[in-house]
Amino acid sequence: MPNHQILIYEPWCKGCEICIRICPKDVLALNDRGKVSIVDKDACIGCRQCELHCPDLAIRVIPDRPGKKEETPPEPVASEPPPAMLGQGPPALLGDKPIIKVMTGNDACALGAIAAGCRFFAGYPITPSSEIAENLSALLPKVGGRFIQMEDEIASMGAVVGASLAGAKAMTATSGPGFSLKQENLGYASMAEVPCVVVNVMRGGPSTGLPTLGTQQDVMQARWGTHGDHPVIVLCPFSVEETFFSTIRAFNLAEKYRVPVVVLMDEVVGHTTEKAVLPPASEVHVETRPRPTEPPERFLPYKHTESDIPPMAVYGEGYRFHVTGLAHDETGFPTNNSEEIDRLLRRINRKIERYRDEIVDVQTESLEGAQVVVFAYGSASRSAREAVRMARAEGLPVGLFRPTVLWPFPDKELVKATENARAVLVPELNLGMMAHEVEWALQDRSKVHKLGRVDGEPLPPTAILAKIKEVLG
Ligand code: SF4
Ligand code: SF4
Repeated sequence: MPNHQILIYEPWCKGCEICIRICPKDVLALNDRGKVSIVDKDACIGCRQCELHCPDLAIRVIPDRPGKKEETPPEPVASEPPPAMLGQGPPALLGDKPIIKVMTGNDACALGAIAAGCRFFAGYPITPSSEIAENLSALLPKVGGRFIQMEDEIASMGAVVGASLAGAKAMTATSGPGFSLKQENLGYASMAEVPCVVVNVMRGGPSTGLPTLGTQQDVMQARWGTHGDHPVIVLCPFSVEETFFSTIRAFNLAEKYRVPVVVLMDEVVGHTTEKAVLPPASEVHVETRPRPTEPPERFLPYKHTESDIPPMAVYGEGYRFHVTGLAHDETGFPTNNSEEIDRLLRRINRKIERYRDEIVDVQTESLEGAQVVVFAYGSASRSAREAVRMARAEGLPVGLFRPTVLWPFPDKELVKATENARAVLVPELNLGMMAHEVEWALQDRSKVHKLGRVDGEPLPPTAILAKIKEVLG
């Protein structure tokens, strides 16, 4: 008679009964401690379904093989995840009332992800984003999520796509060269319309560049890094608190529009420690992806719906469908039909273009009567805001235009904000990447001036103020 070994790690079992329901032989039952235990060991056929479905890795099956040695259950490595790394500790992430925390942008990103419902992270540590992975390795097990450190950046992005197809809100975090490596699978997620979040805490480049110094040199890679015509939404927070909210928003946009969303931070935002006020849990809006209403036999995973966003089934719920990075028809299978290809590509682009007004977000300050408008984003906009305030204190007509969403680009909003301005100044930690986009949006309406820095140091407000004065003449 086979003698399969069933090992149960009680401290990890939360008594969800999944294994009991999945077991075809009624081997398992809950005990009076609310944990699973074995009630009919001889009936076990060693199918390992209980092990594969346990969300907490609390049960393991060693199928019987002739001549194998008996195993004893190992001691649990740790019944609790590592100690808190988020200042005040993670157990109650959000409460009934607002919570004030002092933390870094990377901490805020991890907390925002959990608050948004992220339950899967795959990544490969890379500076200056590593603390996001570090935090999530502690937080995710506490909320029933999964954290996996993959063998590389490419595999991480692949795992995120897979987890999302299986129904999890999934993310990865990386920096500079790691972001470059993710591009192919990011394109796959765009083509296959797989919601996911990719955080890039920018560092200097090209290549391995500046591991621990901040720049903003990935703003174009975030939009155009992968090949093909496809939409990407890119959020760019400027503070720790805004990082928390941007991360939540990134998940919501990804789920709503079935697209990958990039949160583009930089080293300064990721590593700055400052106060953030987190809202009560009841005030956090969490979006869920559009789900199919028709039965599996009538389900079309890439249906051309009126909203342009096809409902998304989840693997494991009875819907069987094909997912590919190849051009495909409504069934998800590859096609060479030019009409189908055209229809698909136009729809996946249109589904962001038509909702761009809901996605674009701009914060402005002191635009009234401004002769010079400073266009700034991310950490450079912290200095720009200070420079604008210093300029206003001196009576200079200067205003701030700060997009929190870089892509889709806020062209309409920029044209409106600068209609009475003589010039636009773009301070950024690169050699003028977004300045080109600003020029393109404004055409000849206002003269665009650049102020770039690429030596790894931040742009001080005094340098921006000096440039404002030069532009004002
Ligand atoms: S599935 Fe895992 S956590 Fe749930 S009862 Fe079984 S062993 Fe426990
Ligand atoms: S291995 Fe299969 S038969 Fe044995 S306890 Fe697990 S699910 Fe039941």
